[in-house]
Amino acid sequence: MKGKFVFYNRPFDDALIEPGMAYGRAGDQRRIGAIEAGKRGAVGALVRSLTSAHDDYPHTGTMNYDPAVPKVPGAALSTLAADKLSLLLKANKDLEFELQMECVTLPDEKSYNVVGEIKGSKFPDEIITVGGHLDSWDLAEGAHDDGTGVVQSMEALRLLRAAGLKPERTVRAVLFMNEENGNRGGTEYARLAAQNKEKHLAAIESDGGFTPRGFSAEAEPAIVAKLAKWGPLLKPYHASDLTVGHGGTDIGPLKTAVQPKALIGYDGDSQRYFDIHHTAADTFDKVNRRELELGGASMASLIYLLSKYGL
Ligand SMILES: [Zn+2]
Repeated sequence: MKGKFVFYNRPFDDALIEPGMAYGRAGDQRRIGAIEAGKRGAVGALVRSLTSAHDDYPHTGTMNYDPAVPKVPGAALSTLAADKLSLLLKANKDLEFELQMECVTLPDEKSYNVVGEIKGSKFPDEIITVGGHLDSWDLAEGAHDDGTGVVQSMEALRLLRAAGLKPERTVRAVLFMNEENGNRGGTEYARLAAQNKEKHLAAIESDGGFTPRGFSAEAEPAIVAKLAKWGPLLKPYHASDLTVGHGGTDIGPLKTAVQPKALIGYDGDSQRYFDIHHTAADTFDKVNRRELELGGASMASLIYLLSKYGL
C-alpha cells in the first residue's frame, strides 16, 4: 500500500436495533485505521463516518496511534462523500486523491468541574452523584453531547426542591470537564472523593437527551434486582427499561476509587443519536424541550428513590 490511502468504507449495520452496538462494531475502522494503514506503508487513512445518517457531515471521534508504527493522518469522510468515493473508485482504479487537513493540538488550558449539592436530611454522608459533561467534541456545539446531560443534572436537583422533597441522602450535581479527550474531570472528581473518604451510594450520568426509555446499570446482580423492583414506579413514564451495561464515562473512575453500589446511565431513545454525534449538526435546535424535560424528571424520580431507600 506504499504511497496510497487506505479507504475504510464498512457501513453501520442497520440490522442492529441498538445504534450503540452498530457504532461499536464499525468503530475499529476509526480507532485503529491509521495504525493499520501506517503499518502497511500507506500515506493516510480515510474512514467512512460512523453513522447510519446519509449526510455531508464528517462524524469524527477518538482515533489512536501506536508509537511503534509510522504516524499517518486519519480523516473521517461523510457518508455521502464515502459513497461518492466508492463509486469513483469502481469507475477508475487509478483514481488520485489529495488530502489537506488543518488539525492542530493546542496547549492545555486550566478548566474545572462545576459542583452543587443538596445535603441529605437523614444520611448527609451518603452521596448520590448525578452528572453530565461540559466539554464537547471539537467539531460540535455539543447540544446533545452533552449540553442535555448538564441541564438534566441541574434540573433533577431543581425538581426535587420544586416538589418540596427533602432527599434523605446527599444529592450532588456534577458538571464534568474534559470527558471527550482524556476524562480528566471524572478522574479528578473520583480522586478527590477517595482522598476525602466520601461514601458514594450511586452515580448517574446522562449523555444525550432524547426521549427516556430507562436506565442501564453497572452493578452486582443483587443491586440490579433491587433497581428492577422500582420498574413499576417508572413504567407510567416509559422510563422503566433496565439493562445491565455501561454507566458512563465521567462517573466511571468512581468505580475503583470509592466503589459506589451502582453506576447508572440514563438511557434515552438512541435511534437519532448517531445522526448528530460528534458533528457540526449537534446543535441546540436538535434538542426537543419536552423530551429533555421528561428525561430530567425520570432522573429526578430515580434519584428520589435512591435517596429514600438506598441500595
Ligand atoms: Zn458525551
